[in-house]
Amino acid sequence: MSEIRDVVVIGSGPAGYTAALYTARAQLRPVLFGSSVFVGGSLTTTTEVENFPGFPDGVDGPDLMDKMRAQAEKFGAEMIDDDITDVDLTGPVKLLTDSAGTVHRARTVIVATGSGYRKLGIPGEEELSGRGVSWCATCDGFFFRDRDIVVVGGGDTAMEEATFLTRFAKSVTVVHRRSALRASKVMQNRAFADDKISFAFDTEVAELRQDGPMLGGILLRDVFTGATRDVAATGLFIAIGHDPRTDLFRGQLDLDEEGYLKVAAPTTRTNIPGVFGAGDVVDHTYRQAITAAGSGASAALDAERYLSALT
Ligand code: FAD
Repeated sequence: MSEIRDVVVIGSGPAGYTAALYTARAQLRPVLFGSSVFVGGSLTTTTEVENFPGFPDGVDGPDLMDKMRAQAEKFGAEMIDDDITDVDLTGPVKLLTDSAGTVHRARTVIVATGSGYRKLGIPGEEELSGRGVSWCATCDGFFFRDRDIVVVGGGDTAMEEATFLTRFAKSVTVVHRRSALRASKVMQNRAFADDKISFAFDTEVAELRQDGPMLGGILLRDVFTGATRDVAATGLFIAIGHDPRTDLFRGQLDLDEEGYLKVAAPTTRTNIPGVFGAGDVVDHTYRQAITAAGSGASAALDAERYLSALT
């Protein structure tokens, strides 16, 4: 039988690494499972990060994640680049199975598995991420000054992104597959009233044109007639939703109707004592590296207090 660890962290994004840093400094010898294929989380898929405090000249996303990992390791956090594939969280000792079938035991578990942006699934989308294609206006809007931008989506997030992007963009075209928006009336009205925003309904993105390594234009297609037209946009923001990575916990941890982990805010406590949630996996609203890191710190402190109460 493996030893019972005080803390296991699942997830290697800003939330997981921060939780590992804090629990390591509290002498709790955490072990962090950070995925077999996607070590470092979402920020490893971007280039320049300009809004993480402490880096006045910006920082490369993968570099920032390497630094977070190194800082946690320096204080004794153990990193395992593997997935947790099964969990039994019900008892006072939690059982976590890795991809080799080894069962790890822990008194507390911090879930920091993040969420994935939904993709359009068209060629070039991944390669052009950070080169004209983005999923986060708050993160990247500033890089799109005086450009023509397409926003894909019809919900509140798409309207919010479109409206926010008018601060920087020359024009914003909202592309939506249906003939009506799903967004709340107030968000729709704000977007309709904005001179910089126009709408292409019953339309989808058919192709991304490249200009060297950058997005050079977008081919749109009418979903009914199939007619296509080129738009000279050099920015594409995809706002069609997110999928929190919670399948592993379904049936044990309480999830909301969209699959996000429920916590007793402002704490990070889930419905199971000793299990805490942090970062984008619990967060519909902010989804930033700094907010994920902040909630990772909160989860570590909550776990520490929970462990102290056991002794
Ligand atoms: P994540 O970073 O998503 O990390 C979760 C990790 O857990 C992943 O590595 C995942 O593989 C792993 N995991 C999941 N399940 C398991 C499992 N079962 N076992 C082991 N590991 C598992 N934010 C900013 O503040 N500024 C920016 O400039 C910015 N730019 C961005 C650009 C892009 C392209 C993207 C996609 C996001 C950007 N963000 C930015 C948002 C930011 O990356 C996220 O808010 C943040 O990374 C969320 O951190 P997290 O720790 O909750 O999850």
